[in-house]
Amino acid sequence: MAQVVVIGAGIAGSLLASRLAGRHRVTVIERASRNVPLPVLDRGRPAGLDEHAGCGPGGSSYLWHNGLIQLEDEDFSGWPITAADLSPYMEAAHRALSGVAIDSVQQVEAELRAAFADAGVAPRLTGHSLYYPSHRRNLWKSEDVAAKPVTRVTGRVEKLLLDDGGRALAAVLAGRAEPVRGDVFVLTAGGLGSPQVLAASGLGPLAGRFYHDHPVGFVAEVTLNADINRIWNRYDRRLKGSLRLPLVMRTARQKFAFYFRPAGPTALKAKSVLSELRNKPFDPRLYVRLLTHTNDIVEAISLKAGINIPTRRFVLYMCAEQVPQTNVAIGAEGETVTRDWVLDEDFRAAAGNAIAGVLAELAPLVERQTVFPTWFDDLATAAHHSGTCRMAATPQDGVCDGEARVFGTKNIYVCDGSLIPAAGYANTGLTIGALALRLTEMLNA
Ligand SMILES: Cc1cc2nc3c(=O)[nH]c(=O)nc-3n(C[C@H](O)[C@H](O)[C@H](O)COP(=O)(O)OP(=O)(O)OC[C@H]3O[C@@H](n4cnc5c(N)ncnc54)[C@H](O)[C@@H]3O)c2cc1C
Repeated sequence: MAQVVVIGAGIAGSLLASRLAGRHRVTVIERASRNVPLPVLDRGRPAGLDEHAGCGPGGSSYLWHNGLIQLEDEDFSGWPITAADLSPYMEAAHRALSGVAIDSVQQVEAELRAAFADAGVAPRLTGHSLYYPSHRRNLWKSEDVAAKPVTRVTGRVEKLLLDDGGRALAAVLAGRAEPVRGDVFVLTAGGLGSPQVLAASGLGPLAGRFYHDHPVGFVAEVTLNADINRIWNRYDRRLKGSLRLPLVMRTARQKFAFYFRPAGPTALKAKSVLSELRNKPFDPRLYVRLLTHTNDIVEAISLKAGINIPTRRFVLYMCAEQVPQTNVAIGAEGETVTRDWVLDEDFRAAAGNAIAGVLAELAPLVERQTVFPTWFDDLATAAHHSGTCRMAATPQDGVCDGEARVFGTKNIYVCDGSLIPAAGYANTGLTIGALALRLTEMLNA
């Protein structure tokens, strides 16, 4: 039985604490005692999403939409492990994050793919499905960590203290004289938090580099001659949730997923208000905005009541893969995290081509189309903060090895979004869950 210190209580931290408890003496150090936004200063491109990282029990999973989607096998080409290595943990993570088996989702996905083909959308265009459970989970609560034999410490970890042999001895907290000692340290402070702690500890010379997110936004409106009313969002009783199938455009470097969303009577709304409304239900300004966002109302009715209002007008919502940034994107200013998000001209050109490409593929189904002139400026963060302590085959290419251990150290692991080298067009929550369950098994062995 080892003393395991888990730093951060997000998806990964909650799962690790929950599943290691009993087998080890577990201490979780989380910077906030209740759910509050993580203070983030966007130095580069603005996030476009207010509150894009969580803090407190559950971390960002108290803010998230809980959309679960699997990586494609080829996305692992930049990883030091294979899709098969992670596959069993994907299944277990899907259950932990939603209560639903991944097989059940795949069955409905096959039905949906066939329905898209019937509507005239070639199966080669459709990607992996995105599944939204009806009720989102805060992992700290759903794992019931508070009821388990886990010691909880509230505070911000500034750095780790190491001996000369690359072994961490203790975590130093801001404003606290007494460090927290342990045998094994797992950084689960998120894509914005973990690189900071490593950098302050003099570890992982590449920590904070290779940042990538998923730029998201509405890019075009189409009027269709095909009927996709029942399939743009498929509510399924067996799944107790909704399934969406993206159309995927691929280049050698990156992928672009496009989801249909109903345009609603007033249409041409480049920014959704649903996300903010979900996390700030008592803000009256958001309800005023919602009145003009009829597309959001139509979408909410489909998600919550399973009723798809008939329409032929849809907007295309893009979720783009970002080639990892080369600069050190993540830093700190006192207690505030700084993020330098860059979408360069190469990205703009590739995304522009992908938009043109998907519209060309859809041309036989489209009566009218408009690409939103401001689509690039309107792109926002998906809050999939990734890559900043990425796994790699060598220390020249990343921060952690294939077992998630920080190169050159004996007992320091990273397990959160920062570990993900490449995410294709897939939201990262499910992958983070799978990585956490894999590390749990390694530490429990
Ligand atoms: C509005 C919104 C919607 C989203 N929707 C989806 C979705 O549909 N599907 C999906 O897959 N993903 C979604 N995401 C992203 C998803 O929530 C995150 O990718 C995921 O929760 C990250 O988990 P994590 O464990 O890596 O880190 P986090 O959840 O960010 O947890 C890190 C924790 O570490 C703590 N911490 C940080 N630094 C320190 C420190 N120095 N000391 C101590 N504690 C520290 C933080 O307070 C936080 O609690 C969404 C995010 C947002 C904001």
